Amino acid sequence: MFSSIALSEPLETLRSVFGFPEFRPHQREIVDELLAGRDAFVLMPTGGGKSLCYQIPAMHREGVGIVVSPLISLMKDQVDALRANGVRAEFYNSSLGAEESRRVLRALHARELDLLYVAPERLMSEGFLERLSGEAIALFAIDEAHCVSQWGHDFRPEYVQLGALRKHFPEVPMVALTATADPQTRSDILEQLGLRQAKVFVAGFDRPNIRYLVQEKTKPFNQLVDCLERWKGESAIVYCLSRKRVEEVAQKLRLAGWSAAAYHAGLPSAQRSRVQEDFLRDDVRIVVATVAFGMGIDKPNVRAVVHYDLPKHLEGYYQETGRAGRDGLESEAVLLYGLSDAVVARQLVGQNANAEQRRIESHKLDAMVGFAEALTCRRRVLLGYFGEALDADCGNCDRCLKPVELYDATDDAYRALMAVYEVRQRAGVRLVIDVLRGAETDQVRRLGHHRLPTYGQGADRSTEHWASVIRQLIHHGYLVQDVAKFGVLKLTPKTRPILHKEQGLQLAVPQERIARRRSKRKPTADHAADDPLFQALRAVRKEIADAAGVPPYVVFGDATLKEMAARKPRTLESMLEVSGVGLHKLKKYGDRFLEAIVRNDRTGG
Ligand code: ADP
Ligand code: ZN
Repeated sequence: MFSSIALSEPLETLRSVFGFPEFRPHQREIVDELLAGRDAFVLMPTGGGKSLCYQIPAMHREGVGIVVSPLISLMKDQVDALRANGVRAEFYNSSLGAEESRRVLRALHARELDLLYVAPERLMSEGFLERLSGEAIALFAIDEAHCVSQWGHDFRPEYVQLGALRKHFPEVPMVALTATADPQTRSDILEQLGLRQAKVFVAGFDRPNIRYLVQEKTKPFNQLVDCLERWKGESAIVYCLSRKRVEEVAQKLRLAGWSAAAYHAGLPSAQRSRVQEDFLRDDVRIVVATVAFGMGIDKPNVRAVVHYDLPKHLEGYYQETGRAGRDGLESEAVLLYGLSDAVVARQLVGQNANAEQRRIESHKLDAMVGFAEALTCRRRVLLGYFGEALDADCGNCDRCLKPVELYDATDDAYRALMAVYEVRQRAGVRLVIDVLRGAETDQVRRLGHHRLPTYGQGADRSTEHWASVIRQLIHHGYLVQDVAKFGVLKLTPKTRPILHKEQGLQLAVPQERIARRRSKRKPTADHAADDPLFQALRAVRKEIADAAGVPPYVVFGDATLKEMAARKPRTLESMLEVSGVGLHKLKKYGDRFLEAIVRNDRTGG
């Protein structure tokens, strides 16, 4: 036992320092592996509890645990959280001033640190490696290890240098951790980092507390607001593809009275840090962002993640949605999927000059579209992509909650395909729908389409209905969209039997109607938000956090406060039984929370 506060047994440290009663699956084995001085490779979903896997062994082994992390904000959060538990942690990166840097290095050489978080380029600088060579090192932990691989979706050149660590420190155990890695990336990570003997731990990727919903994008802003209404007063992230859209959506939300801020790489860095900080501290509830946002966000109480546009790959999508509900409480991921999204995305992929890259990207996009268009359990599709099979449908996605209703679409399909045929396979979706619905637009007149037999033959159905039918026809291979030619619709060999009325066809009832019907129902989510004691505890937490200049969850997570509100402990001993309450925090905050519980009881709350 070398840390100032670690106990003789990892389990004891878990309980007394971190306040958790038990290890989660795999955590104990990984800890033991590192304690024995061996390497490990950890593939665990976001929120799975990767951090403890190296934090505890770092506290139990001699020397300092060096943690490599790609983002500065991430380091600061982790260090804040560790220090709130009484662990001696620091970070060392370019955000520190000269004075601060010297202080951290002094602490390192005085052997006063359990954990040191370092940016990869700092760590691999000659000066720093030299410093380390004189020190006892408990372990190296490479967080977000997929950044080392060109196969991954987030390659970072500065990570490549980490390959040399093994040579410099052959004796020190190393653990690589990531939440996203397909088999190719996985073996690449092992190779690049020289982890040849490493035991591989793959934890289940399922995040059952996240409800996966995909909605046809019809009126995206209203759909977004619908979702936010379900999670009023809670934190949410909205992802958009372009900076322009980010600004637009954030602005509209603010005008509608929501607490929202924009975040993208084009904003001054001071502003970005402020947004991030405000979000972490619950001062801003909603962040509208490009994918630039989030890798540094380990906020456990994000309740909803909305994708306003189609992401480029399932890896990114999974990682972004994984930012919801890291505390294990009920949360929601909503994907708004528009008919043109896939077309635009394919055009972008097509522009990549590198054929190999184009092949990888196009493969990844196919999987993304397949998820968005799936008629079966979303989670099965998602986990299947990561090589994990579910035993049963999940029961917590839109497909499970409201199975697809099929209808006899033979006639709809006939009319739609006929319209495509009559415009001589030279029109995109919108024009075909205009023809079907008999729209009186300049374009229709100019092209003489108002004289076609199918003109107005589909006026009995809404635009959304036809969009859905056409999309399903594409999905099932009865139509293809020519990406190179602005998404022009073309018939396929499969089309023939339908045009000749030799074959019937079942399609899903267009979703828009289902969505409208459903949104009338009251949301069923159980919001502890109604519990006055929970609210009182939250208020106490916010006061403490603001006074200490840290995010509220660093004091206690929502799950801990909920359990506290349910158990209503009256003594410090019984408060210690609440998951998430360790000795250090008990001493620091216990009385304040006890007081709030007693007070709330008196007021009859
Ligand atoms: P990851 O790095 O894998 O995304 P974290 O290490 O940040 O996940 O852990 C996610 C959440 O789970 C944190 O709030 C953490 O405190 C909590 N957690 C981790 N291990 C346990 C455990 N054994 N028992 C209870 N909560 C845990
Ligand atoms: Zn499901």
